[in-house]
Amino acid sequence: MAASAPTVLLIEDEPQMRRFLRATLRAHDYAVVEAATAREGLAQAAGRGPEIILLDLGLPDGNGLDVVREIRRTARTPIIVISARGQEPDKVAALDLGADDYLTKPFGVPELLARIRVALRHALDRAGESDAEEFAAGALVVDLRRREIRRHGERVHLTPTEYKLLAVLIRRAGRVVTHRQLLEAVWGANYADQTHYLRVYMAQLRHKLEDDPNRPALLITEPGVGYRLRDDASPATTGSSTKLARPGSR
Ligand code: CA
Repeated sequence: MAASAPTVLLIEDEPQMRRFLRATLRAHDYAVVEAATAREGLAQAAGRGPEIILLDLGLPDGNGLDVVREIRRTARTPIIVISARGQEPDKVAALDLGADDYLTKPFGVPELLARIRVALRHALDRAGESDAEEFAAGALVVDLRRREIRRHGERVHLTPTEYKLLAVLIRRAGRVVTHRQLLEAVWGANYADQTHYLRVYMAQLRHKLEDDPNRPALLITEPGVGYRLRDDASPATTGSSTKLARPGSR
């Protein structure tokens, strides 16, 4: 068991935060490697081959953004950014640079573990298993091969643009996708700043897919960042009865 435990690289300069994260992760069967500076973190990322990286954005010897950029030059290792309130622009920039997700301090343990599981699962999917042919979340079922959408068993018709937007979110289900990433994927690089497109199309999607479009349960707004499609494997962040699945189902 211990031999196959996924290794988490923790890049964080605050000793208290590091102690808390180390204890939490070890209690849930992760192996933990630590770094207190950007430089140390990059060395560990290259040398220790972690399965996932938790990265604090405010580091004493540099910006976490540079760490993301540097790691992404050679590796797709999932990166979850840990940011403090007030670091929203950096957080978004980190995601645009290829970080997979983020947590804002203070965050709860169930949320941390859920984010890690989602990121590891996506990394495994990418590593080889064929693309899923069906996506299901709540009352929504999407047949990705036939591009058929059903809600409570009833066919739902989406326009090509609505489908494209939904498909991008499905590919990253459970993880946040930034405004820029969605706009570039659906409309193209020239539209990266046209956030109002997203508002319009997201409202249409919610109208067609949500039980209550005004209180979305699937298409979640991440304020100032983007959107997240909640899938059945990523529980609501506040769920107190969150089941803790065992990490790394390899
Ligand atoms: Ca810090």
